Amino acid sequence: MRCPFCRADNDRVIDSRAGDDGGSIRRRRECLACRRRFTTYERVERQSLAVVKKGGDRDPFDRDKIKRGLAKACWKRPITEDDIENAVAAIEAEVFGTYESEVPSGVIGERIMEMLKQLDQVAYVRFASVYREFKDARDFVEELEPILAQSLRPADDR
Ligand SMILES: [Zn+2]
Repeated sequence: MRCPFCRADNDRVIDSRAGDDGGSIRRRRECLACRRRFTTYERVERQSLAVVKKGGDRDPFDRDKIKRGLAKACWKRPITEDDIENAVAAIEAEVFGTYESEVPSGVIGERIMEMLKQLDQVAYVRFASVYREFKDARDFVEELEPILAQSLRPADDR
């Protein structure tokens, strides 16, 4: 770290501690050239991710939006707040881990559906029906059929 007084790039860290907000690290440094002390803050930089819609419009990635979508689909279903939060976190981690600066909105839609499929079939169909509506009505029937077939099977299927 370059010394703000003499511009030398030679210092030692005297003390490191978490910043007040917990999201940063405060380091007290001493310049080995002029012996003056200064403080640096280190914080995590969250990469920004743009969601690219079909028309080409870009929106910043919005985890609350995903959460609202999931919550709506899970309305009155036996899904806890934690389940939804975990699903959002999983989608977020995957998207941020896979895409660098932009992600197609369709990818997020598909991830939400995958999550719902694991969580709750009714919630899944709810979301899928709205989501697929804009693509092809036949897609929805194709999605629905195996679920219906499964639910019509006797519970003690062996
Ligand atoms: Zn210095």
